[in-house]
Amino acid sequence: MGRSFMPKIRTERELKRIQLEGLQWTVQHAYKNSEFYRRRLDEAGVHPRHIKSLKDIAKLPFTTADDLRDGYPFPLRSAPFERIVRIHASSGTTGKRKVLCYTQKDIDDWANMFARCYEMAGLTKTDRVQIAVGYGVWTAGVGFQLGCERFGALAIPVGPGNLDMQCQFLEDFQPTALCATASMALLMGEEVQKRGLRNRIALKKVIMGSERSSDSMRAKMKDLLGVEHVFDIPGLTELYGPGTGLDCVYHEGIHYWADYYILELLDPETLEPVPPGEIGEMVVTTLRKEASPLIRYRTRDLTKLIPKRCSCGSILPMHDRLLGRSDDMFIFRAVNIYPGQIDHVLSNTEGVGSEYQILLDRKEDGRDYMTVRVERSEGADPARDQALASRIEEEIKKQILVSARVEIVNYGTLPRSERKSKRVFDNRGD
Ligand SMILES: [Zn+2]
Repeated sequence: MGRSFMPKIRTERELKRIQLEGLQWTVQHAYKNSEFYRRRLDEAGVHPRHIKSLKDIAKLPFTTADDLRDGYPFPLRSAPFERIVRIHASSGTTGKRKVLCYTQKDIDDWANMFARCYEMAGLTKTDRVQIAVGYGVWTAGVGFQLGCERFGALAIPVGPGNLDMQCQFLEDFQPTALCATASMALLMGEEVQKRGLRNRIALKKVIMGSERSSDSMRAKMKDLLGVEHVFDIPGLTELYGPGTGLDCVYHEGIHYWADYYILELLDPETLEPVPPGEIGEMVVTTLRKEASPLIRYRTRDLTKLIPKRCSCGSILPMHDRLLGRSDDMFIFRAVNIYPGQIDHVLSNTEGVGSEYQILLDRKEDGRDYMTVRVERSEGADPARDQALASRIEEEIKKQILVSARVEIVNYGTLPRSERKSKRVFDNRGD
């Protein structure tokens, strides 16, 4: 099959050695070449020579999205412009975009990481990959394409939308893999169904770009497109872009490329590491990134580490799917809770829709109460509301270890909005 993009590492000790070397290089490189990092490190009283073991990462100051915005247009830049060959920027909903610089080596590293994704998904050079994600200044499309070409499969760069062309290509070019967001893949599935194409296409795999998705969405995708596997590909513009990990065919978690970056999972309040298996904020430190290295960058994304070796035997560690944003965290009866956890319970419960609200109240007895308001799914029988509510209450208790009251409301009554819709209503005063 030719070149492999997997790390040639056999033991955890070897992986740790690579991480320490990369960490030392990164801190040294950033200190020497970036005014921002030098000032930050000096303020924290840390010098590159203080980094002697992986544990010393805790001495390093954090970097945040605010730092990127403050440094606009070229924040964190740690290489001279003559070595920078490209920039990417986040789509940026508020304020200025986050702009990241790339040297040619950064681009090559990214291509190799992304090629590893295709290898992890079990593709070969004879696979054909229809790329239905957006191309532009953000990192998506070009990353999928670069990785596909580096890997040696055939790329069909269609971009999003344009269902007529997508369907025609599925039929004419017989792609075996589809790269798309979850909602785009579902849309294509419905279109394939509508046009009766399922038996005339050759798709076997969907590689799904970062977006919230439930198990039922995946099941539907598999059913409509007739694919065997749906893979989750995480990605963050700050950290190269998409392609920094992938679940393998066992789907026990998302393997992440620990030879390219260190992932810490920290409590967003205390910034101390959470115990393995508990939810924390993803904080990343790159090991070889030249133009815009990251030192303890707070992504605000939440997940948990999966503290076991995957059935595939890979040395590469795993984290769970993204479970939400740390900005959305709330504390209820001394438990840190993320809307994503409620979302997860609901998305795996038959009979409810995907819209929900979390209401927090403080009653006269001085105690806090949580109500989860969720829509009955379209056409479901209201007579079953009580049973449904009890089932969800039990699951919340079991999975999140708190008591909540569940209220089922009519389909279509909760406000429909974008992904950023407000879900938590905290009426507890202080
Ligand atoms: Zn695996």
